[in-house]
Amino acid sequence: MIVKQIWTANAYRNFNYLIACAKTGEALAIDPLDHEKCLQAAEKEGWRITQILNTHEHRDHTGGNEALVRKTGAAILAHKNAKDKIPNVSRGLGAGDLVQVGKTVTLDVLDTPGHTMSHVCLLSRGDEHALFCGDTLFNAGAGNCHNGGHPEELYRTFSDQLAKLPASTLIYPGHDYIENNLRFTLSREPDNRDARELLGRLANQDPGNAYVTTLDVERDINTFFRLTSPTVIAKLREAFPDLPEKPDRRTVFLKLRELRNAW
Ligand SMILES: [Zn+2]
Repeated sequence: MIVKQIWTANAYRNFNYLIACAKTGEALAIDPLDHEKCLQAAEKEGWRITQILNTHEHRDHTGGNEALVRKTGAAILAHKNAKDKIPNVSRGLGAGDLVQVGKTVTLDVLDTPGHTMSHVCLLSRGDEHALFCGDTLFNAGAGNCHNGGHPEELYRTFSDQLAKLPASTLIYPGHDYIENNLRFTLSREPDNRDARELLGRLANQDPGNAYVTTLDVERDINTFFRLTSPTVIAKLREAFPDLPEKPDRRTVFLKLRELRNAW
């Protein structure tokens, strides 16, 4: 599997992706908002874009579909419940479905509600796992829930699915938010040395050549995976004095999500 992360350099800081089969040159475009950059990248490599995958229905993920389909004839794949929100979806996806790219790439579909209720992530099979997670999981952060999502569902997606993936899984999110997210992590957990060190290292990084985290790294630097950290809980109590003595993970996650909204 070949992965190309495409930095759109737009105001929303979107990342688009191409996943290609090295044998056949067929490629899947994930959330190809910047259809021109995606097409240029594919042409440069000699790839043919035959499928488009929208992780969810928001316009900054689907806005490139029409132009890219016109130029490539690619089929559009999305969550089965997003079919009425995204025009011309030819394949509706559910948990356990497989997406095949050429002969060598197989991706598992994860049904991951929370940011919206019709959001999918793709997990590549093989020796090295990669997760294409749209707006569910960001580097050092989590998706918001204010445009059709639900924080409880997002928590369940994190705890029941994402947290259980192999530690070495590479994380490929839909936006470049890492610097801002690390600052939020540090606001909730000022003694998080891993987050502080990474923020220093990434200051002014070129998003066109972005640092790729793993799930293992996320466990150290992402507040939404640090629900039992004593510092996170103590700081949370400053904002929510009624917090129980030993709050459960769900409570901590939901309070953090609430604080992140206001941050
Ligand atoms: Zn979104």
